[in-house]
Amino acid sequence: MKKLILSILILTGGAMSAQENPNYWQQHVDYKMDIDMNVNNFQYTGSQELKYTNNSPDTLKKVFYHLFFNALQPGSDMDMRLQDIADPDGRMVNNLGTKEEPKYQSRISILKPNEIGYLRVESLDQDGKKVEYKEEGTILKVSLAEPIAPGKSTTFKMKFKGQVPVQIRRSGRNNADGVALSMTQWYPKLAEYDFEGWHADPYIAREFFGVWGDFDVNISIDKKYILGGTGVLQNADEIGYGYEKEGTKVKRAKGDKLTWNFKAEKVHDFAWAADPEYIHDSMKTESGVTLHFLYKNDPKVKENWKKIQPETAKLLAFYNEHIGEYPWKQYSVIQGGDGGMEYANCTLITGGENYDGLLGTTAHEFAHSWFQQLLGTNESQHPWMDEGFTSYISTQAEQSLEGKNSENPYKGSYRTYNYLAQSGKEQALSTHGDRYEYNMAYSIASYVKGSVFLSQLGYIIGKENLQQTLHSYYDEWKFKHPSPNDFIRVAEKVSGAELNWYLNDWVNTTNTIDYAVKNISEENNATTATLERVGIMPMPLDVTVSYTDGTSENIYIPLSMMQWEKPAAEGMERTVEKNWSWAQRNYDLKLNKPKSEISKIEIDAAGFMADVDRSNNIFPAAAAE
Ligand SMILES: [Zn+2]
Repeated sequence: MKKLILSILILTGGAMSAQENPNYWQQHVDYKMDIDMNVNNFQYTGSQELKYTNNSPDTLKKVFYHLFFNALQPGSDMDMRLQDIADPDGRMVNNLGTKEEPKYQSRISILKPNEIGYLRVESLDQDGKKVEYKEEGTILKVSLAEPIAPGKSTTFKMKFKGQVPVQIRRSGRNNADGVALSMTQWYPKLAEYDFEGWHADPYIAREFFGVWGDFDVNISIDKKYILGGTGVLQNADEIGYGYEKEGTKVKRAKGDKLTWNFKAEKVHDFAWAADPEYIHDSMKTESGVTLHFLYKNDPKVKENWKKIQPETAKLLAFYNEHIGEYPWKQYSVIQGGDGGMEYANCTLITGGENYDGLLGTTAHEFAHSWFQQLLGTNESQHPWMDEGFTSYISTQAEQSLEGKNSENPYKGSYRTYNYLAQSGKEQALSTHGDRYEYNMAYSIASYVKGSVFLSQLGYIIGKENLQQTLHSYYDEWKFKHPSPNDFIRVAEKVSGAELNWYLNDWVNTTNTIDYAVKNISEENNATTATLERVGIMPMPLDVTVSYTDGTSENIYIPLSMMQWEKPAAEGMERTVEKNWSWAQRNYDLKLNKPKSEISKIEIDAAGFMADVDRSNNIFPAAAAE
């Protein structure tokens, strides 16, 4: 009977996908850019032709661009926020005090005019007509010459000038490893207007969100510089440096500069890096994707940058299998930036002296090609959906590469989440990335609680359902902007369970989970274990009862509001008990053996439920090791 109800639920569960949802749309952009870089003063000029298509049902009278580099100036929003926050990013400050009594100085606040970053618009027109525009910090507000009707396109032509900042955060010149140019968030980039409205967020600290489209970018730069980045190099045989077809005699143009032409399709960002001392290796993977590696000829890191190459190919295969096929032709792992940061078709990673660190960062950043570049959630509004999902899958990929088969590779994540939950500094996962009071709370929430969102979902709906959910999520939402609700709807449709309660409690609140075995009693030869919901957040329960004869029994207690029961894991025998409704604080679990034969009752023995107090999960307490 339950089976029948289940299949009816799936059939009627609503199969509206993004394409069918009349409220969903996303804009489209096609960029053509010509960039001329002066490597001596780090200034560049650009001309940009941007064809913009309005897929929204609204007539647009204005548009917004991001001018990210303007954040790297004294007095900017990024600078003031950095000076204001109690636990600033260590990369962005100098400590003028001691370790115990730090006195932070914002590195942005002391930048000289020739060290700041900037993007300055010199001219802008729309279909040949001048438009009015105004720069405000990192945002350019544009009042259109002609409104753009739904379904119509318009072309913007812009001239701009830029200066690459001293490396402070993500982008910049001469980073800690001596990489000359880390060119990320470096061009005037149109802000997204989607079903949730405009997203012209100032660049304060957190990430960015963009419009999909095609890029055709010419970069003229000193001949000695070697580049890597987004897209496929079109004129490889005129450039060389390991990009040319094997055996080709490279014919370089005369003059001091080379013009590199990159084309990228269906991406929402374009990044690159350049250095005259890069070593460039490339390899073709089984799936046909070419991997590029660009790193400094530095004996401290060189070996490790070689060693990660076959491992990166394995990572690609892992993500292809566990999420969905990588859709672009190339991916580049590039030494640059200030840690590890994901961009379209590439990542910039610093260092590499520590091999495990380099591999772990590569695993993480590469996974962002799926959970950000492909499944383009609004990472400012929902940072947990890209950082958390990325952390979840890259943890598994690393395990697989290392040949480890730990039953719960997320143990550390549950501990770290618990630390946050007890810290008094936790804010709900639904908090905008810039609106966390502490960087610590942002990081643990986004990376760790976001990762536990998935591993715990595996506990709730079963591992196979979770795996299928990731595949369906990829199929339904690739090249789109999924919201938290879109993800949970996929999980609901795959599993058949009602899951909006999970999204609500875990994401929109800081409610915590705490279940306890309160007592075991015996009356008229009947044994009853009394379980208690101590925390506010509901959960279905896996309970293990161990007996003095060495046997044990698996019990599953469904949660009423899920209208569903989890399928038993393969090869597992278990008993399904009656539903537990959230409002009932206590639950009587009837057991078939006398109390004297019960050695231990344990809630969630595998540890996939983020119970904030595990000490009361076991009865008798003495049975807990
Ligand atoms: Zn990340």
